[in-house]
Amino acid sequence: MSVESMDELLLDELKDLYSAEKQITKSLPKLAKAATSPELKQAFESHLEETKGQIERLDRVFQILGKSSKGKMCHGMKGVLEEGAEVLEETEKGDLRDAALISAAQRVEHYEMAGYGCVREYAKILGQKEIASLLDETLKEEEAADEKLGNIAKQVNRLASQAAA
Ligand code: FE
Ligand code: ZN
Ligand code: FE
Repeated sequence: MSVESMDELLLDELKDLYSAEKQITKSLPKLAKAATSPELKQAFESHLEETKGQIERLDRVFQILGKSSKGKMCHGMKGVLEEGAEVLEETEKGDLRDAALISAAQRVEHYEMAGYGCVREYAKILGQKEIASLLDETLKEEEAADEKLGNIAKQVNRLASQAAA
């Protein structure tokens, strides 16, 4: 057993999130390219920039802890992103694909929200105030990204529902 205290659990889950964010920076440009709606394209592109900032925030967290960010693969995010890539095989470019891309992307945001919510609470209870506040900033960005996608979906779904089979 390598995780035997909440400090170690915090570190373990932070490494997992670091791996998830790194994977997301590789996927978002593909999602942006695949999107037809200019709003959706823009949402993916701006969340890519935001994600780079989230990685810098995690770098800061690891710096405060005096630990390395390396050493863990987030298999959960790998699976979620693989499903996102399947959308490109299953749909033609257009409104229906956009609807499916939003569905995949909202899964990514929710996975992240669960992860950041948990580590923020660990940091709080361990008295790591600065770390908790850094993680909270990222959590708020993930929530906002999810909400933005949900709003874009309203228009996209309306168009997609008119697509002929
Ligand atoms: Fe993120
Ligand atoms: Zn994970
Ligand atoms: Fe995100």
